[in-house]
Amino acid sequence: MSNVLIHPSVDNGFSAGSEGFSGGTLHCKCADNKVEVTVSSQCAHNHVCGCTKCWKPEGALFSQIAVAPREAVSVTANADKLEIVDETAAIQRHACRECGTHMYGRIENADHPLYGFDFFHTELSDDAGWAGPEFAAFVSSIIESGADPANMDAVRSRLRELGLEPYDCLSPPLMDAIATHAAKQAQA
Ligand SMILES: [Zn+2]
Ligand SMILES: [Zn+2]
Repeated sequence: MSNVLIHPSVDNGFSAGSEGFSGGTLHCKCADNKVEVTVSSQCAHNHVCGCTKCWKPEGALFSQIAVAPREAVSVTANADKLEIVDETAAIQRHACRECGTHMYGRIENADHPLYGFDFFHTELSDDAGWAGPEFAAFVSSIIESGADPANMDAVRSRLRELGLEPYDCLSPPLMDAIATHAAKQAQA
């Protein structure tokens, strides 16, 4: 048992997900009138993220976040409680204004390399079978949220022990997708 806590959903190990799983519902943390978001597909690129923008549970060093096609994501209850955290951010994070939980993030700029993907936190779902986290993104950024720089070796080795390769940006497949998009735009 490590004394480095990454995120409650991964600290005690996690499942890789179920084949054939086709989505579920997410709920905010309100006691009643919960905002409900339905995701009608398996998630992809699930990962822990150290950036300062992703919503994370109290005390966690990292958030855990995944994507699904935006057509697969819809608000199915209490949509009136949602508000956009930062209208100017590339990813518009829709949060419950009562409990603060980020329910989904959407990119409205069709030229953005990750346009078409919505971001969400599988931990908000009671449904089992979501594909598990695969890597750790923006690891160095946890320092911006107050993590001790002297502890980064321990954080990175704990991530590796969990099978979550640490990157200081996104994973190579996502960085390649972003660069491919940039190259295509440059040619257009
Ligand atoms: Zn709420
Ligand atoms: Zn993030």
